[in-house]
Amino acid sequence: MQYAQANGARIPVLGLGTWELRGRACAAAVEEAVRLGYRHVDTAEMYGNEEAVGEGLRASGIARDEVFVTTKVWPDNLAPKDLERAAKHSLSRLRLQYLDLLLIHWPNPRIPLAGTMAALCRMQETGVARHVGISNFTVPLMAEAMRLATVPLVTNQFEWHPWLDQSQLVAACRRHGLAVTAYSPLGRGRAARDATLARIAARVGKTGGQVCLRFLLQQGAIVIPRTARRARLRENMEVFDFELGVEDIEDIRGLGRRGGRMVDWTGAPDWD
Ligand code: NDP
Repeated sequence: MQYAQANGARIPVLGLGTWELRGRACAAAVEEAVRLGYRHVDTAEMYGNEEAVGEGLRASGIARDEVFVTTKVWPDNLAPKDLERAAKHSLSRLRLQYLDLLLIHWPNPRIPLAGTMAALCRMQETGVARHVGISNFTVPLMAEAMRLATVPLVTNQFEWHPWLDQSQLVAACRRHGLAVTAYSPLGRGRAARDATLARIAARVGKTGGQVCLRFLLQQGAIVIPRTARRARLRENMEVFDFELGVEDIEDIRGLGRRGGRMVDWTGAPDWD
C-alpha cells in the first residue's frame, strides 16, 4: 500500500468507500477488502453502516493500528455539543477506541463555523480522532476552516473523477497542505463505460475503472472506490503496477466539465 502524507497524517491512498453498503453485505465487503490488502475504510454516520463496518474490521482480524478508519459528522450535528455527541456515537457504533479521521460531512451555513471547528479540533485534542478534516468544502469555505482550525486539518474530501474539473479546488488544497480525497472516483460506475478510458485501458492492458483510479492517483489524490463484489475489490486495488503517460492524462482531463457533478442536493454549498 502507498501512503499520502499531509499535515502529520499518513493516509493509505486507496480506501474502500461504503456509501449504500448495509448490514451483512457491508460487513462482508469490509472483511474481504481488508483480507485483500485494503488498509483504509470510509464511512459516515449518515450511511447507517458504522456497526457493519466495525463488524467487518473485527472479522478480518486486522490489528487496529494497521487500518485507517474515516467517519463523518452529518451537517445537522455541527453545533459543538452535537458534534461531540455524534463523534462519540460513531465510535461506539464502530466499537473502536479512536477514529483515524473525523470529517465534517458537508458545511452547514445555518451553524457558525467557528464553533464547529473548535469542536472538531477538540475531538483530536481529546483523542477521539487522530486526525480531523472537512468534506465538500469549497475554496472559500476551506480557507475559512483553515483559518479557524487550531490543529492541522489533513484532507478535504470531495467529488473528483474525469468528468468533473476540480482543478481550482485541488490547487487550493495544495496551497493549504491538505491531501485531496476523491469521492465517487469511478464517477459512480461511469468509468467502466467511457470510450476514452476504454481505449487507453485496452492499450495498457487494464480496465476503464483502473485507468480512472490511476488518473486520480497520479495527480496525488487518495481514492475511495466502492464495491461489494470480490472481483471488483481486487480490480480496484490493482492500480499500482502501471503508469499513464502525459498524453493519456491530458486526454482524460479533456473529459472534465465544470458542471459534471454526480453528487448534489439542496444542502450543498455554492460550488466553486
Ligand atoms: P464510485 O465512484 O466508487 O462508484 C461506485 C459504483 O461503481 C458502484 O455502482 C459500483 O458497482 C461500481 N464499480 C465499482 N468498482 C467497479 C469496477 N471495477 N468496474 C465497474 N464498476 C465498478 O461511487 P461512490 O459514490 O460510492 O463513491 C465512493 C465512496 O466515496 C462512497 O462509497 C463514499 O464512501 C464516498 N462518498 C463521499 C461523499 C461525501 O459527501 N463525502 C459523497 C459520495 C461518496 P457495484 O457496487 O455493483 O460493484
